[in-house]
Amino acid sequence: MRSFQHINVFTLEEAVSVLKDSGGKAQVIAGGTDIIGVLKEQILPDYPEILLNIKAIPDLDYIKKDHEGLRIGPLAKLAGLAKSPAVREKYGALAQAARSVGSPQIRNMATIGGNLCQETRCWYYRYPHSIGGRLLCLRKGSGSCLAVNGDNRYHALFDARRCFAACPSDVAVALLLLGAEINILGIGGKRTVYLQDFFHPLGNALEPGEIIGGIHIPTPPVGAKQQFLKFTLRKPIDFAVVSAAALIVLDGGICTEARIALGAVAPGPRRFPEAENFLKGKRLETNVLEKAAGIALEGAKPLSKNGYKIEIAKTLISRALSACLENESFNH
Ligand SMILES: Cc1cc2nc3c(=O)[nH]c(=O)nc-3n(C[C@H](O)[C@H](O)[C@H](O)COP(=O)(O)OP(=O)(O)OC[C@H]3O[C@@H](n4cnc5c(N)ncnc54)[C@H](O)[C@@H]3O)c2cc1C
Ligand code: SF4
Repeated sequence: MRSFQHINVFTLEEAVSVLKDSGGKAQVIAGGTDIIGVLKEQILPDYPEILLNIKAIPDLDYIKKDHEGLRIGPLAKLAGLAKSPAVREKYGALAQAARSVGSPQIRNMATIGGNLCQETRCWYYRYPHSIGGRLLCLRKGSGSCLAVNGDNRYHALFDARRCFAACPSDVAVALLLLGAEINILGIGGKRTVYLQDFFHPLGNALEPGEIIGGIHIPTPPVGAKQQFLKFTLRKPIDFAVVSAAALIVLDGGICTEARIALGAVAPGPRRFPEAENFLKGKRLETNVLEKAAGIALEGAKPLSKNGYKIEIAKTLISRALSACLENESFNH
């Protein structure tokens, strides 16, 4: 690993100011579970000269209920989200998604802000510099996408343009399901971005010098049942091959609200409005759930080796919806 300066900052405003003054040479470090690996493996051609430690800022590891929903600090740990009674009570899909990440050690360090901003897991992108030199590709600003004609078994089925990497964040899937907003701070002041607008094909909505200052989730509809599910190759610690989250509200056995989100199939987590609308006004029999899953995957555009993810995604959607019906909203 090359050397860098490690600087503590004590307010978000100070963090933004140092980021600006560094002219792009500083980067935020929160729990460090992703960025330290990225620096150690030297996967990127540009190396930050300064790591800004935002953990020195007090009171950013919070989960607060208010009359509008839930407010989460950028340094809230995934372990805390998984355990929090406030999250488990009304935002069960988020607790489940946080609980599904990595190992207890990772969840004790990893923050929600870092989870949303982690680098892609595309194996061409992550190829270590020490083994014959890093691989350059379009996302790194040089060359074309190596996955299109290469081994793309874990890559995106939807919305990919030029870069086909799939978003690795499990937490983002639950946040999308729950209609979360990201509060962003920069030199120009504060702004809010809906989760569905946060992820871009080549990164995220943060401009240079901007930082996530918090997350807000509106109160879910009364009576909503939720479920997050994840398919991985290794059970104890692994990223999702596909993840799914569902939320439904029933009135007299009829579906009045339905939300479906998938993870690891697109540059960001993705909702499926046509499948959701199909469910509304219906009794959710098994064949209806399966039909909705089929509708959701109709627009998938698989690459040469990732078509198998379509069947996994359909199965996860049906299972997540069924679990909502069975009221298994949290069972860890
Ligand atoms: C073994 C292992 C298994 C894993 N398994 C999973 C998994 O199953 N599912 C999953 O979703 N993730 C998984 N991860 C990824 C893990 O969740 C992330 O590494 C973690 O959430 C990042 O959080 P952090 O606080 O450690 O971020 P850091 O490593 O400190 O930072 C990551 C990135 O986020 C930026 N950043 C951090 N906070 C902010 C902020 N407030 N504003 C702007 N930018 C910010 C940093 O600059 C950096 O670019 C795994 C990681 C490991 C090492
Ligand atoms: S999918 Fe994206 S990160 Fe992976 S090789 Fe292609 S451009 Fe690079």
